[in-house]
Amino acid sequence: MPNYLLIKNGRLFNSPKKENVENYTRPCHTPKNRSGLDAGRVDILIRGKTIVRIGKIKTDSGGCEVLDAAGRIVAPGFIDVHIQGAGGASILDANRNALETISQTLARLGTTGFLATTVFKPGAENLPVTVASEKTGQNLGGANLLGIHLEGPFISLEKKGGVLPDSICKPSLKILKEIQHLTGKTLKMMTIAPELTGNLEIIRKLVDSGTIASFGHSSASYAETLSGIAAGISHVTHLFNAMPSMHHRSPGPLPAILENKRVTCQVITDGVHLNPEIVRFTFNILGDSRFVTISDGVTSTGLPDGTYLYDGVKYRSKDGAGRRDKETLVGTTLGLNQLIGRLMKFTGCTFAAAVKTVTENPARTLGLEKKKGSLAIGKDADIVILNQDLSVFATIVEGKRCA
Ligand SMILES: [Zn+2]
Repeated sequence: MPNYLLIKNGRLFNSPKKENVENYTRPCHTPKNRSGLDAGRVDILIRGKTIVRIGKIKTDSGGCEVLDAAGRIVAPGFIDVHIQGAGGASILDANRNALETISQTLARLGTTGFLATTVFKPGAENLPVTVASEKTGQNLGGANLLGIHLEGPFISLEKKGGVLPDSICKPSLKILKEIQHLTGKTLKMMTIAPELTGNLEIIRKLVDSGTIASFGHSSASYAETLSGIAAGISHVTHLFNAMPSMHHRSPGPLPAILENKRVTCQVITDGVHLNPEIVRFTFNILGDSRFVTISDGVTSTGLPDGTYLYDGVKYRSKDGAGRRDKETLVGTTLGLNQLIGRLMKFTGCTFAAAVKTVTENPARTLGLEKKKGSLAIGKDADIVILNQDLSVFATIVEGKRCA
Protein backbone atom coordinates (compact mmCIF):
# COMPACT_ATOMS: atom_id res chain seq x y z
CA MET A 1 0.00 0.00 0.00
CA PRO A 2 1.48 3.36 -0.93
CA ASN A 3 1.58 5.98 1.80
CA TYR A 4 -0.62 9.03 1.65
CA LEU A 5 0.38 12.47 2.89
CA LEU A 6 -2.09 15.35 2.92
CA ILE A 7 -0.84 18.92 3.16
CA LYS A 8 -3.69 21.07 4.46
CA ASN A 9 -4.26 24.83 4.29
CA GLY A 10 -1.31 25.88 2.20
CA ARG A 11 -1.15 29.09 0.19
CA LEU A 12 0.17 28.43 -3.30
CA PHE A 13 3.29 30.47 -4.08
CA ASN A 14 1.77 31.66 -7.34
CA SER A 15 -1.83 31.95 -6.22
CA PRO A 16 -3.72 34.49 -8.32
CA LYS A 17 -5.94 35.21 -5.31
CA LYS A 18 -5.78 38.57 -3.65
CA GLU A 19 -4.14 37.28 -0.53
CA ASN A 20 -1.41 35.60 -2.53
CA VAL A 21 2.09 35.27 -1.28
CA GLU A 22 3.42 38.33 -3.03
CA ASN A 23 2.40 39.94 0.23
CA TYR A 24 4.60 37.43 1.96
CA THR A 25 6.06 39.97 4.38
CA ARG A 26 2.65 40.65 5.88
CA PRO A 27 1.48 38.51 8.78
CA CYS A 28 -0.63 35.47 8.01
CA HIS A 29 -4.35 36.13 7.89
CA THR A 30 -6.32 34.18 10.43
CA PRO A 31 -9.03 32.18 8.71
CA LYS A 32 -12.40 33.92 9.17
CA ASN A 33 -14.28 30.69 9.33
CA ARG A 34 -12.38 28.17 11.41
CA SER A 35 -14.56 25.27 10.34
CA GLY A 36 -13.86 25.78 6.66
CA LEU A 37 -11.03 26.78 4.39
CA ASP A 38 -10.14 30.35 3.68
CA ALA A 39 -10.39 31.41 0.07
CA GLY A 40 -7.02 30.83 -1.54
CA ARG A 41 -6.06 28.00 0.81
CA VAL A 42 -5.32 24.76 -0.88
CA ASP A 43 -4.70 21.13 0.08
CA ILE A 44 -2.29 18.79 -1.69
CA LEU A 45 -2.67 15.02 -1.58
CA ILE A 46 0.43 12.93 -2.14
CA ARG A 47 0.34 9.21 -2.89
CA GLY A 48 3.73 7.55 -2.57
CA LYS A 49 6.08 9.96 -4.30
CA THR A 50 3.53 11.66 -6.54
CA ILE A 51 1.09 14.58 -6.23
CA VAL A 52 -2.36 13.14 -6.94
CA ARG A 53 -4.75 15.97 -6.03
CA ILE A 54 -4.65 19.72 -5.49
CA GLY A 55 -7.74 21.48 -4.20
CA LYS A 56 -9.98 21.33 -1.19
CA ILE A 57 -9.73 17.83 0.21
CA LYS A 58 -11.68 16.39 3.15
CA THR A 59 -9.58 14.97 5.98
CA ASP A 60 -11.81 12.00 6.75
CA SER A 61 -9.85 9.65 4.48
CA GLY A 62 -8.44 7.40 7.23
CA GLY A 63 -4.82 6.30 7.43
CA CYS A 64 -3.61 9.48 5.80
CA GLU A 65 -0.82 11.44 7.42
CA VAL A 66 -1.82 15.11 7.66
CA LEU A 67 0.54 18.08 7.65
CA ASP A 68 -1.18 21.40 8.45
CA ALA A 69 0.54 24.24 6.62
CA ALA A 70 -1.73 26.66 8.54
CA GLY A 71 -1.71 29.31 5.84
CA ARG A 72 2.00 29.09 5.09
CA ILE A 73 3.41 29.33 1.57
CA VAL A 74 3.57 26.08 -0.39
CA ALA A 75 6.04 25.99 -3.29
CA PRO A 76 7.79 23.39 -5.42
CA GLY A 77 11.03 22.18 -3.81
CA PHE A 78 14.11 24.11 -4.87
CA ILE A 79 16.72 22.73 -7.28
CA ASP A 80 20.35 23.86 -6.99
CA VAL A 81 22.50 23.05 -10.03
CA HIS A 82 25.65 24.36 -8.38
CA ILE A 83 26.52 23.24 -4.87
CA GLN A 84 29.91 22.08 -3.60
CA GLY A 85 29.06 21.34 -0.01
CA ALA A 86 26.90 22.15 3.01
CA GLY A 87 26.57 21.53 6.73
CA GLY A 88 30.35 21.13 7.21
CA ALA A 89 30.68 18.51 4.46
CA SER A 90 32.02 18.75 0.93
CA ILE A 91 31.57 16.64 -2.18
CA LEU A 92 35.40 16.37 -2.04
CA ASP A 93 35.14 14.38 1.22
CA ALA A 94 34.26 11.49 -1.09
CA ASN A 95 32.08 9.46 1.24
CA ARG A 96 28.43 8.64 1.77
CA ASN A 97 28.28 10.42 5.14
CA ALA A 98 29.33 13.70 3.56
CA LEU A 99 26.71 13.37 0.83
CA GLU A 100 24.07 12.58 3.47
CA THR A 101 25.08 15.67 5.47
CA ILE A 102 24.86 17.84 2.36
CA SER A 103 21.54 16.31 1.28
CA GLN A 104 19.98 16.78 4.73
CA THR A 105 21.34 20.31 5.24
CA LEU A 106 19.97 21.33 1.86
CA ALA A 107 16.54 19.93 2.74
CA ARG A 108 16.52 22.19 5.82
CA LEU A 109 17.03 25.12 3.43
CA GLY A 110 14.16 24.10 1.13
CA THR A 111 16.22 22.38 -1.56
CA THR A 112 14.87 19.04 -2.79
CA GLY A 113 17.28 18.35 -5.66
CA PHE A 114 20.90 19.24 -6.42
CA LEU A 115 23.86 18.60 -8.66
CA ALA A 116 26.98 17.63 -6.74
CA THR A 117 29.37 20.23 -8.07
CA THR A 118 33.03 19.36 -7.95
CA VAL A 119 36.25 19.14 -9.95
CA PHE A 120 38.12 16.44 -11.87
CA LYS A 121 41.87 16.13 -11.27
CA PRO A 122 43.57 14.65 -14.35
CA GLY A 123 45.89 11.77 -13.44
CA ALA A 124 44.41 11.40 -9.94
CA GLU A 125 42.02 8.82 -8.53
CA ASN A 126 39.01 11.18 -8.44
CA LEU A 127 37.21 9.34 -5.68
CA PRO A 128 34.80 12.25 -5.04
CA VAL A 129 33.49 11.93 -8.60
CA THR A 130 33.14 8.14 -8.33
CA VAL A 131 31.32 8.35 -4.97
CA ALA A 132 28.94 11.11 -6.13
CA SER A 133 28.21 9.13 -9.27
CA GLU A 134 27.46 5.92 -7.32
CA LYS A 135 25.17 7.71 -4.87
CA THR A 136 23.16 9.59 -7.49
CA GLY A 137 19.50 8.68 -7.11
CA GLN A 138 20.02 6.93 -3.75
CA ASN A 139 18.15 7.93 -0.61
CA LEU A 140 20.45 10.26 1.33
CA GLY A 141 17.78 11.34 3.81
CA GLY A 142 17.23 14.78 2.30
CA ALA A 143 17.48 16.53 -1.06
CA ASN A 144 17.84 14.25 -4.07
CA LEU A 145 21.28 13.94 -5.60
CA LEU A 146 20.33 14.43 -9.26
CA GLY A 147 23.81 13.98 -10.74
CA ILE A 148 27.17 15.66 -11.12
CA HIS A 149 28.25 19.08 -12.30
CA LEU A 150 31.99 19.20 -13.04
CA GLU A 151 33.65 22.61 -13.09
CA GLY A 152 36.38 21.83 -15.57
CA PRO A 153 38.85 20.36 -16.19
CA PHE A 154 38.81 22.03 -19.67
CA ILE A 155 38.68 25.58 -18.36
CA SER A 156 40.90 28.64 -18.51
CA LEU A 157 43.79 28.89 -16.05
CA GLU A 158 43.47 32.66 -16.31
CA LYS A 159 39.91 32.52 -15.00
CA LYS A 160 40.28 29.65 -12.56
CA GLY A 161 38.68 31.54 -9.63
CA GLY A 162 38.34 29.06 -6.77
CA VAL A 163 39.35 26.02 -8.87
CA LEU A 164 42.90 24.84 -8.13
CA PRO A 165 45.38 24.42 -11.04
CA ASP A 166 45.61 20.63 -10.46
CA SER A 167 41.97 20.41 -11.58
CA ILE A 168 42.56 22.13 -14.92
CA CYS A 169 44.06 20.71 -18.14
CA LYS A 170 44.14 21.21 -21.88
CA PRO A 171 41.10 19.87 -23.76
CA SER A 172 41.60 16.15 -24.35
CA LEU A 173 39.22 13.58 -25.78
CA LYS A 174 41.09 10.89 -23.84
CA ILE A 175 40.42 12.64 -20.54
CA LEU A 176 36.81 13.28 -21.55
CA LYS A 177 36.43 9.52 -22.12
CA GLU A 178 37.91 8.82 -18.68
CA ILE A 179 35.42 11.23 -17.11
CA GLN A 180 32.49 9.71 -18.98
CA HIS A 181 33.63 6.24 -18.02
CA LEU A 182 33.69 7.29 -14.36
CA THR A 183 30.35 9.12 -14.35
CA GLY A 184 28.21 7.42 -17.02
CA LYS A 185 24.74 8.95 -17.18
CA THR A 186 25.26 10.89 -13.95
CA LEU A 187 27.37 13.62 -15.59
CA LYS A 188 24.59 16.19 -16.03
CA MET A 189 26.67 19.34 -16.53
CA MET A 190 30.20 20.37 -17.36
CA THR A 191 31.57 23.90 -17.10
CA ILE A 192 33.81 24.54 -20.10
CA ALA A 193 35.76 27.39 -21.74
CA PRO A 194 34.93 27.39 -25.48
CA GLU A 195 38.00 29.40 -26.53
CA LEU A 196 40.44 26.57 -25.76
CA THR A 197 41.48 24.59 -28.85
CA GLY A 198 39.61 21.29 -28.97
CA ASN A 199 36.73 22.35 -26.73
CA LEU A 200 34.17 22.87 -29.51
CA GLU A 201 34.44 19.16 -30.30
CA ILE A 202 34.20 18.32 -26.60
CA ILE A 203 31.08 20.51 -26.30
CA ARG A 204 29.46 18.60 -29.19
CA LYS A 205 30.37 15.25 -27.57
CA LEU A 206 28.95 16.37 -24.22
CA VAL A 207 25.66 17.44 -25.77
CA ASP A 208 25.44 14.18 -27.77
CA SER A 209 25.76 12.18 -24.56
CA GLY A 210 23.09 14.22 -22.74
CA THR A 211 25.39 16.43 -20.66
CA ILE A 212 24.73 20.17 -20.46
CA ALA A 213 27.72 22.18 -21.70
CA SER A 214 27.89 25.25 -19.51
CA PHE A 215 30.01 28.28 -20.37
CA GLY A 216 32.31 29.28 -17.52
CA HIS A 217 35.76 29.85 -16.04
CA SER A 218 36.57 31.25 -19.47
CA SER A 219 38.33 34.19 -21.10
CA ALA A 220 36.42 33.78 -24.37
CA SER A 221 35.88 36.73 -26.68
CA TYR A 222 32.44 37.64 -28.04
CA ALA A 223 33.06 35.57 -31.20
CA GLU A 224 34.47 32.58 -29.30
CA THR A 225 31.42 32.60 -27.03
CA LEU A 226 29.11 32.57 -30.06
CA SER A 227 31.06 29.59 -31.48
CA GLY A 228 30.63 27.79 -28.17
CA ILE A 229 26.89 28.44 -28.22
CA ALA A 230 26.68 27.24 -31.83
CA ALA A 231 28.51 24.04 -30.79
CA GLY A 232 25.92 23.38 -28.06
CA ILE A 233 26.51 25.52 -24.98
CA SER A 234 23.05 26.15 -23.50
CA HIS A 235 23.82 27.32 -19.99
CA VAL A 236 26.25 29.58 -18.13
CA THR A 237 28.03 28.89 -14.85
CA HIS A 238 27.86 31.74 -12.30
CA LEU A 239 27.33 34.53 -14.84
CA PHE A 240 29.83 37.41 -14.48
CA ASN A 241 32.06 35.46 -12.09
CA ALA A 242 35.25 33.96 -13.60
CA MET A 243 34.77 35.52 -17.06
CA PRO A 244 35.79 38.82 -18.72
CA SER A 245 33.56 41.79 -18.04
CA MET A 246 31.98 43.87 -20.78
CA HIS A 247 33.85 46.69 -22.49
CA HIS A 248 32.32 48.86 -25.22
CA ARG A 249 35.19 48.13 -27.65
CA SER A 250 35.87 44.59 -26.46
CA PRO A 251 32.45 43.11 -25.73
CA GLY A 252 33.62 39.74 -24.34
CA PRO A 253 31.21 36.88 -23.60
CA LEU A 254 28.48 38.78 -21.74
CA PRO A 255 26.50 40.35 -24.63
CA ALA A 256 26.81 37.07 -26.61
CA ILE A 257 25.26 35.23 -23.66
CA LEU A 258 22.66 37.79 -22.60
CA GLU A 259 21.25 38.28 -26.11
CA ASN A 260 20.93 34.56 -26.77
CA LYS A 261 17.42 33.55 -25.74
CA ARG A 262 18.27 29.81 -25.70
CA VAL A 263 20.89 30.19 -22.99
CA THR A 264 19.94 30.00 -19.32
CA CYS A 265 22.25 31.52 -16.70
CA GLN A 266 23.25 30.73 -13.14
CA VAL A 267 23.31 33.76 -10.89
CA ILE A 268 24.45 33.93 -7.28
CA THR A 269 22.01 36.45 -5.85
CA ASP A 270 23.70 37.05 -2.51
CA GLY A 271 24.60 40.67 -3.40
CA VAL A 272 28.29 39.87 -2.79
CA HIS A 273 29.31 37.79 -5.82
CA LEU A 274 27.37 40.33 -7.87
CA ASN A 275 26.54 43.82 -6.77
CA PRO A 276 22.77 44.14 -6.07
CA GLU A 277 22.30 46.56 -9.01
CA ILE A 278 23.95 44.03 -11.33
CA VAL A 279 21.58 41.35 -10.03
CA ARG A 280 18.64 43.64 -10.91
CA PHE A 281 20.12 44.59 -14.31
CA THR A 282 20.70 40.91 -15.15
CA PHE A 283 17.21 39.89 -14.06
CA ASN A 284 15.70 42.67 -16.19
CA ILE A 285 17.65 41.47 -19.25
CA LEU A 286 17.26 37.71 -18.77
CA GLY A 287 13.66 37.82 -17.59
CA ASP A 288 12.22 35.32 -15.14
CA SER A 289 12.58 32.29 -17.45
CA ARG A 290 16.33 32.26 -18.16
CA PHE A 291 17.52 33.23 -14.70
CA VAL A 292 18.63 30.30 -12.51
CA THR A 293 19.44 31.26 -8.92
CA ILE A 294 22.23 29.12 -7.49
CA SER A 295 24.04 29.06 -4.18
CA ASP A 296 27.48 27.74 -5.25
CA GLY A 297 27.23 26.55 -1.64
CA VAL A 298 30.37 25.47 0.20
CA THR A 299 31.11 23.47 3.37
CA SER A 300 29.89 26.33 5.57
CA THR A 301 26.46 26.54 3.90
CA GLY A 302 23.85 26.38 6.62
CA LEU A 303 26.48 26.96 9.36
CA PRO A 304 27.49 30.09 11.33
CA ASP A 305 30.27 32.48 10.23
CA GLY A 306 33.82 31.18 10.86
CA THR A 307 36.90 29.59 9.27
CA TYR A 308 36.40 26.47 7.15
CA LEU A 309 38.30 24.31 4.66
CA TYR A 310 37.65 23.80 0.95
CA ASP A 311 39.86 21.40 -1.04
CA GLY A 312 42.46 21.63 1.73
CA VAL A 313 42.55 25.44 1.62
CA LYS A 314 41.27 27.65 4.46
CA TYR A 315 38.59 30.26 3.84
CA ARG A 316 36.54 32.63 5.96
CA SER A 317 32.79 32.67 5.88
CA LYS A 318 31.14 35.97 6.79
CA ASP A 319 27.67 37.45 6.12
CA GLY A 320 26.79 34.71 3.69
CA ALA A 321 29.99 34.81 1.60
CA GLY A 322 33.02 32.49 1.74
CA ARG A 323 36.35 34.09 0.80
CA ARG A 324 39.80 32.51 0.43
CA ASP A 325 41.42 35.96 0.51
CA LYS A 326 40.16 39.50 -0.12
CA GLU A 327 39.78 38.88 -3.86
CA THR A 328 38.80 35.23 -4.24
CA LEU A 329 35.28 34.20 -3.39
CA VAL A 330 34.73 30.49 -2.91
CA GLY A 331 30.94 30.49 -2.70
CA THR A 332 27.99 31.55 -0.63
CA THR A 333 26.80 30.07 2.64
CA LEU A 334 23.14 31.02 2.18
CA GLY A 335 20.37 28.60 1.29
CA LEU A 336 18.22 29.13 -1.79
CA ASN A 337 15.38 30.21 0.52
CA GLN A 338 17.46 33.21 1.61
CA LEU A 339 18.82 33.83 -1.88
CA ILE A 340 15.35 34.24 -3.40
CA GLY A 341 14.59 36.71 -0.60
CA ARG A 342 17.62 38.75 -1.66
CA LEU A 343 16.61 38.44 -5.31
CA MET A 344 13.21 39.98 -4.51
CA LYS A 345 14.84 42.71 -2.47
CA PHE A 346 17.34 43.64 -5.20
CA THR A 347 15.00 43.38 -8.20
CA GLY A 348 11.53 44.11 -6.82
CA CYS A 349 10.35 40.96 -8.63
CA THR A 350 7.31 39.02 -7.46
CA PHE A 351 7.63 36.06 -5.13
CA ALA A 352 6.30 33.79 -7.88
CA ALA A 353 9.07 34.97 -10.24
CA ALA A 354 11.77 34.50 -7.60
CA VAL A 355 10.53 30.96 -6.91
CA LYS A 356 10.57 30.20 -10.65
CA THR A 357 14.35 30.86 -10.70
CA VAL A 358 14.93 27.99 -8.25
CA THR A 359 12.25 25.56 -9.47
CA GLU A 360 10.87 25.66 -13.02
CA ASN A 361 14.01 27.17 -14.60
CA PRO A 362 16.60 24.74 -13.20
CA ALA A 363 14.19 21.82 -13.82
CA ARG A 364 13.86 22.84 -17.48
CA THR A 365 17.62 23.36 -17.76
CA LEU A 366 18.14 19.79 -16.54
CA GLY A 367 15.36 18.40 -18.76
CA LEU A 368 13.40 17.33 -15.66
CA GLU A 369 10.41 19.64 -16.14
CA LYS A 370 7.97 16.78 -16.74
CA LYS A 371 8.55 15.53 -13.18
CA LYS A 372 10.02 18.37 -11.16
CA GLY A 373 10.00 22.13 -10.70
CA SER A 374 6.27 22.73 -10.37
CA LEU A 375 3.26 21.71 -8.34
CA ALA A 376 0.86 19.73 -10.50
CA ILE A 377 -0.95 16.42 -10.51
CA GLY A 378 1.35 13.61 -11.62
CA LYS A 379 4.53 15.50 -10.69
CA ASP A 380 7.00 14.33 -8.05
CA ALA A 381 5.96 15.52 -4.60
CA ASP A 382 9.00 17.75 -4.04
CA ILE A 383 7.52 20.50 -1.92
CA VAL A 384 8.70 23.19 0.44
CA ILE A 385 6.48 24.92 3.00
CA LEU A 386 7.83 28.34 3.93
CA ASN A 387 7.16 30.67 6.82
CA GLN A 388 6.46 34.34 6.10
CA ASP A 389 10.15 35.22 6.60
CA LEU A 390 11.10 32.49 4.06
CA SER A 391 12.53 30.22 6.73
CA VAL A 392 11.61 26.60 6.07
CA PHE A 393 8.68 25.03 7.94
CA ALA A 394 8.82 21.68 6.14
CA THR A 395 10.48 20.06 3.15
CA ILE A 396 9.03 17.06 1.38
CA VAL A 397 11.20 15.09 -1.02
CA GLU A 398 9.36 12.62 -3.27
CA GLY A 399 6.53 12.35 -0.77
CA LYS A 400 8.70 11.98 2.33
CA ARG A 401 9.05 14.73 4.91
CA CYS A 402 12.82 15.35 5.30
CA ALA A 403 12.81 18.60 7.25
ZN1 LIG B 1 33.22 28.24 -10.27
